Amino acid sequence: MRKKLIAGNWKMYKTPADAQAFVAALLPHVWEHERDEIVLCPPFVNIPAVVEATRGSKIEVGGQDMFWEKEGAYTGAISGSMLRAAGCTHVILGHSERRQYFGETDDTVNRKLRAALVAGLKPIVCVGEVLEEREAGVTEDILRRQCSVAFREIAGGGAHPIVVAYEPVWAIGTGKTATPELAAEAHRVIRAEAANAFGDDVAARMRILYGGSVKPDNANALMSQTEIDGALVGGASLDPKSFAAIVKW
Ligand code: PEP
Repeated sequence: MRKKLIAGNWKMYKTPADAQAFVAALLPHVWEHERDEIVLCPPFVNIPAVVEATRGSKIEVGGQDMFWEKEGAYTGAISGSMLRAAGCTHVILGHSERRQYFGETDDTVNRKLRAALVAGLKPIVCVGEVLEEREAGVTEDILRRQCSVAFREIAGGGAHPIVVAYEPVWAIGTGKTATPELAAEAHRVIRAEAANAFGDDVAARMRILYGGSVKPDNANALMSQTEIDGALVGGASLDPKSFAAIVKW
């Protein structure tokens, strides 16, 4: 049985004061919620405020990216050990916006994934096809490539913290959502790649989230699929009431 994980990706929104107010508004809705794991991924500068505000609750905190080196002359970068020291348990890697605007590749995702595991973080690795790839019928090939490269040089025994988020790029921030069946089909492809890389046991336990315009009104249909182990939520995670409604799908 895989516990579902609902993660909010705030992208480049909110100040530390906004973050504090968000958590204060969210906590009463989810304080007693045990069924699903809840993770908030704010911009780096808000991590201390969110860690402090969620102390004593079950909400965990994640970064939205990291660099693979531990420290060094890498202006603007943040390492996995820095995220851990700041109180993060998770980190999003390979988000399509990082791929589109910041030169992220399957290879850099792999380097970051290996470094995140060494740092003791639970990585949420994003994969997904763009619209042209879906229309060309190559979604499965894209997912297989993204996963197989991301999973390189990781021993099965060390892979258990990995979470994958299937995020069809055409569904992110567009209001279009993959049907539950289409998402479940992509998840089966990803799980098969995980089995190739890490073995059946690790693959069977690996959580695969769906992301792409998850909202309170479609969360239940998506989360009810046995192949969908949670959600990575962008826009709807910015409002405490709508995020709480998704958590309680
Ligand atoms: C995301 O940013 O990962 C995402 C899925 O965004 P949205 O929910 O806004 O589509």
